[in-house]
Amino acid sequence: MKKNLPIVAIIGRPNVGKSSLFNLLLGERKSIVDEEEGVTRDINIGIVNTERIAFYLYDTAGYLEKGDSFNSLIQAKVREAIANTELILFVVDGREVHPYDEDLAKFLQKQEKKVLVIANKLDNREMEDLHYEFFRLGFNDILPFSVLHKRGYSTLIEWIEDNLKYSSNKVKEENPQIRIAIVGKPNVGKSLLVNTILGYERSIVSDLPGTTRDSIDDIFEYNGKKICLIDTAGLRRKAKIENDIEYYSNVRTIQAIERSEVVILLLDSMEGISQQDKKIVDMIMEKGRGLVIAYNKWDLKRVKSDENYRLMEDYKKFTYKEIGAYNFVPVEFISAKDNYRISKLLDTALRVYEDFYYRVPTNILNEWVEQNIKESYNRKQVSNLRIYYAAQVYSAPPRFVFFVNKKDYVRKDYPRYMENRIREAFEFTGVPIKINFREKKENIK
Ligand code: GDP
Repeated sequence: MKKNLPIVAIIGRPNVGKSSLFNLLLGERKSIVDEEEGVTRDINIGIVNTERIAFYLYDTAGYLEKGDSFNSLIQAKVREAIANTELILFVVDGREVHPYDEDLAKFLQKQEKKVLVIANKLDNREMEDLHYEFFRLGFNDILPFSVLHKRGYSTLIEWIEDNLKYSSNKVKEENPQIRIAIVGKPNVGKSLLVNTILGYERSIVSDLPGTTRDSIDDIFEYNGKKICLIDTAGLRRKAKIENDIEYYSNVRTIQAIERSEVVILLLDSMEGISQQDKKIVDMIMEKGRGLVIAYNKWDLKRVKSDENYRLMEDYKKFTYKEIGAYNFVPVEFISAKDNYRISKLLDTALRVYEDFYYRVPTNILNEWVEQNIKESYNRKQVSNLRIYYAAQVYSAPPRFVFFVNKKDYVRKDYPRYMENRIREAFEFTGVPIKINFREKKENIK
């Protein structure tokens, strides 16, 4: 047995499809490894080769098929079997949470291994939502799956590849690029800001026929992070767009926003925020991108330093009055001309980027629900709404699902209230978050 390959183990109660998954992963080239010293007879072992890695796959079906109790003897054996595994594929019948799954979940939580819950038997798209139920088991990664139809297969392989740390032949992860778009109506200083950030005056490259087109993005490093400024060629080219309506409805602007993770909306300090600017704020939020608002040309305000911060506060207040619903969007004050507070702007954009990808671990989220949300019911009985548990099912942008007794009990203003509470607890600076409520099938306290 080659000792250098990492191990991935399949675990799950009887009849959930462990062996089928094992066979699916091994594929045509079934290479079942004979067990050797130390490995018990109850485990099937195979070697799986993906494009990026190879690993041992353990199928522990042998332990859990017999009987229906997860007693301490079986627990001890499973613990031993998975002692050296790096990843656990916890297979469940995705159509319903079974008490046995809950026992296994509790056990697996204690093993401190990376776990992917595979909600199997979700054979079609309509069934896919059922997997949300399993978030209450407390794991972060849950994959709707169908061995039968190979649904979720490539995501599974990716998850394994991404999570196997010690594999000898793993491809080195590339330093991800943080994608930032700079938008704003004509003449607010976008081009100058790009030049200031890049630290040099770039030449204007003409689109001569036959020459290779200039790259549309600029990449630079900031504090060891690679940042990609999206479609700066659009700014460089100085299109003949004169007014802001035209600029904002320009396909190129919209595409730049769509390709980005964080948008910097540049405003002119002498002009403030216009109706069109507000519309673009709406659009950026609807498209689910992170946002920083920056007032440029702050040098023109020429304020004495002691008044400077007060003026900034006034501008912030005024801005939030205009974009009330988005008071979580950071507002910065810069001068592209004088290189004033440009690094502050970049720091803020990076913070938004981090929050954009932040995922609240399921157990922490539910501890918070337990302590802050459920408690408030007991204090005053104002609503029949009951929240059982919650999960952040996506990041980038974040999306939360709350499992409740009845959706009709969710008052219209409640999502907004919950969003504010989540922001108080977990922040999410500059990032729009989505909140959904789902009814649980049976009431679990
Ligand atoms: P764009 O259309 O948004 O790309 O705007 P430009 O970068 O072409 O800038 C428009 C004008 O504003 C130019 O004359 C710039 O020199 C000027 N400008 C840009 N940033 C600043 C700034 O921070 N302070 C001052 N005073 N002028 C600026």
